Amino acid sequence: MQSCASKSSDYIRSDFAGAQNCSLVEFRVVAVLLAVLECDRTFVYKTCVPTRVIAVANQKGGVGKTTTTVNLAACIADIGRSVLVYDLDPQANATSGLGLEKIEGASAYRVLLGEGNLQEKIRKTAFANLEVVPSEVDLCGADFELARAENHLRRVADSLQPITAGSAYDLVLIDCPPSLGVLTLNAFAASHGVLVPLQCEYYALEGISMLNRVMTQLHENGVNPALDLIGVVMTMYDGRTKLSQQVVGEVREHFGDKVFETLIPRSTRIAEAPSFGKPIIHYDKYSTGSAAYELLAQEFLARLDAKA
Ligand code: ATP
Ligand code: MG
Repeated sequence: MQSCASKSSDYIRSDFAGAQNCSLVEFRVVAVLLAVLECDRTFVYKTCVPTRVIAVANQKGGVGKTTTTVNLAACIADIGRSVLVYDLDPQANATSGLGLEKIEGASAYRVLLGEGNLQEKIRKTAFANLEVVPSEVDLCGADFELARAENHLRRVADSLQPITAGSAYDLVLIDCPPSLGVLTLNAFAASHGVLVPLQCEYYALEGISMLNRVMTQLHENGVNPALDLIGVVMTMYDGRTKLSQQVVGEVREHFGDKVFETLIPRSTRIAEAPSFGKPIIHYDKYSTGSAAYELLAQEFLARLDAKA
């Protein structure tokens, strides 16, 4: 049963999605209304499901994987669900974007090689319901080391097993590196679904066929027959340019309703938030970027819940 306020929230969301060209002031009004409806959404989305593991992946670099991981995680945590960000990228941008220092030996690297357990690596963030398995540069070696190890595609899945078995978190979001190497394949083998950020630029679809092929292979060879494309999110959308609109149109033609209605706008505030170690929702809550990631969180959770 949807409550009245939740329906209003849906209405605002569809209005927002259809009006990406509206002014900053209008965006801010939407953001304020969403904040007013927040309590109600907390109630709606508290009906929790067993831990879901979602890999945020695209082998293309700089398309918004980390930005989406950090901000989606923060918005979902803010709604009241417990979220673990698993930073599987040696660049460790999700780690610093969540306000944590890169500390030697803090990453999952040793755990993936069979030493210790992942629970020991989990760190709290400054934000309620949001924890992180940090990364650091030693993860660079993992692609090479793991490739030679036994059961090498199941290392991330195995590391997560005690965490998912205990349902300690509602959601684990894995931030993948920009490649289809062993770490990303591990993330796919450990996940229920893949979330693909695509940047609104001319070559957006480049490389997606490769990602599709890898997912099909993982189905067919039995590594993860249940792996699902949870959705495609368009990032860095600029409604003033024809190019952005064309790219969204093309991607929608290709992926149909797999593409989230919410478009993440190109926003200076989103870009500067990581340098303060804060997700946008905590850096500038009433910004267009914050509103967009809040809306994405709602759409994303609705999809997850529909599959649960
Ligand atoms: P990599 O492949 O290197 O891991 P990535 O896919 O994780 O990159 P991000 O690091 O999230 O991409 O984003 C790349 C750059 O674009 C960063 O500088 C980030 O701050 C910026 N950026 C991401 N999303 C937006 C946005 N919506 N508006 C403005 N800048 C953005
Ligand atoms: Mg990244």
